[in-house]
Amino acid sequence: MNDSMRRGAAILLLLLGGAALWWAGNGAPASASANDAMVATMAAARERAAANDPRLKGASRFEEGGWIYVHLEGDPGAMGYQHGYLLAPEIEDGFAAVSAGMMHSTQRDWEFFRKAAHEMLWPKIDAEYQQELQGIVEGLRARSGSKLDVDDIVAFNAFEELPDYYVPWLNKQLKAANAPNLKSPGNCSAFVAAGSWTKDGQIVMAHNNWTSYRNGERWRIVFDMAPKSGYRMLMDGFPGVIASDDDFGINSDGLMVTETTITQFEGWDPNGKAEFVRARKALQYAGSIDEYTKIMLDGNNGGYANDWLLGDRKTGEIAQLELGLKAYKLWRTKDGALSGSNWARDPKVLKVDAPEFDPGNKESSPNARRERWDELLKENKGKIDVALAEKMLGDHTDSAEKKEDANERTLCGHVDGSARGVKEWAWQAYYPGGAVQGKATDATMAKEMRFMARMGHPCGGDFLAKPFLAAHPEFAWEEPYLRDMKAGPWTEFRSGQSAKE
Ligand SMILES: [Zn+2]
Repeated sequence: MNDSMRRGAAILLLLLGGAALWWAGNGAPASASANDAMVATMAAARERAAANDPRLKGASRFEEGGWIYVHLEGDPGAMGYQHGYLLAPEIEDGFAAVSAGMMHSTQRDWEFFRKAAHEMLWPKIDAEYQQELQGIVEGLRARSGSKLDVDDIVAFNAFEELPDYYVPWLNKQLKAANAPNLKSPGNCSAFVAAGSWTKDGQIVMAHNNWTSYRNGERWRIVFDMAPKSGYRMLMDGFPGVIASDDDFGINSDGLMVTETTITQFEGWDPNGKAEFVRARKALQYAGSIDEYTKIMLDGNNGGYANDWLLGDRKTGEIAQLELGLKAYKLWRTKDGALSGSNWARDPKVLKVDAPEFDPGNKESSPNARRERWDELLKENKGKIDVALAEKMLGDHTDSAEKKEDANERTLCGHVDGSARGVKEWAWQAYYPGGAVQGKATDATMAKEMRFMARMGHPCGGDFLAKPFLAAHPEFAWEEPYLRDMKAGPWTEFRSGQSAKE
């Protein structure tokens, strides 16, 4: 008997054992427990069989500082399988929380999103990513016997673009009566700086992710990916999603990437390519700012429209790609600081892609944070490094009120503490959302494929679900999904890392 035959025989015995238990238990008083035992035995057998799958070769997982680090490698199908297998419990949990949010805000059922994924998104996804998404389903099923299929996973991957870009566009097309108030999200505070702005002239890049705490507390994966083609990548991300999606990543050819979304963006092209596919492809294949721009523009569907903040450590150049649907603009410099806090600045993009946005309202979250970034970056010109960037991500100065007060206008957002909410994103008063984690790196670290990351509010503050829900029963629907979000320490991650001894 060779090894694989021995393994096969062992699995068969386990399966037979399970069946025998079930059979023996049928009709007997203890049938329920015998049935449970059979299910457990079968699950154990399935898991053992899956663990021996050659597609898992080279993949690994460990946890540190509140993050889950996974290393994925190989061809697209294998990378997907590893992703689905290693993160199966987190994918099931993340899918439940995210899909509940998508259905709640849009008042559409899940079948609607599956159909959009199948008919509109799937045909335009590159074969490589179709294989990876299919691989996620296979790995997930092998590990946990999941019922999720590829339409579920594609709709889930598009959670930043289907509910808040496609659905409002569709409602407008259909002239839907009583359509819910859906707004493109205002995710994140970020900057990239270089030249005379940074301590030693090299690029420094930092980003904190703003989203609902419900989703954000699950946005805790560090993906180290070594694909068969394209560059090595290190990025933060969401379990089950192939792009970083809050977007913070570096690749081995020198590109450093982050973004913040464009507030009150409107528009969608049903014939375009999903944003999550373009964003992943750009991080994997772009070796320059020009290549990055080209990939993002190819098939632009308007989904999850962002101001991309880019750095090329090979040239020392940084850039801002304001990617609207009808218009876009690229700024680039080797000496400057480019910040983002969910505002568009090009007059044409504002006019044609975000017509409702008021750049003059100093009290709105995007504009107040824009002013704070300007102030903070100028104050620290020539001193900016990763340690300072980490502090900036936890900043609590409200520039509209000129005081320290963690709220919806501070770089480290705490909207759950604000009676104003953020109307531009349809976040009602005390919305449980804000900054959920932060990351920072510089060109030296990026060359060594390293970055710093902190899970939870970058200031170190904790969010506690139980007292929040008791004080705000209007968010009771989130109760099954909303958990404590306790801040972890700033932690360094790098490509090829293994668990601490
Ligand atoms: Zn904070």
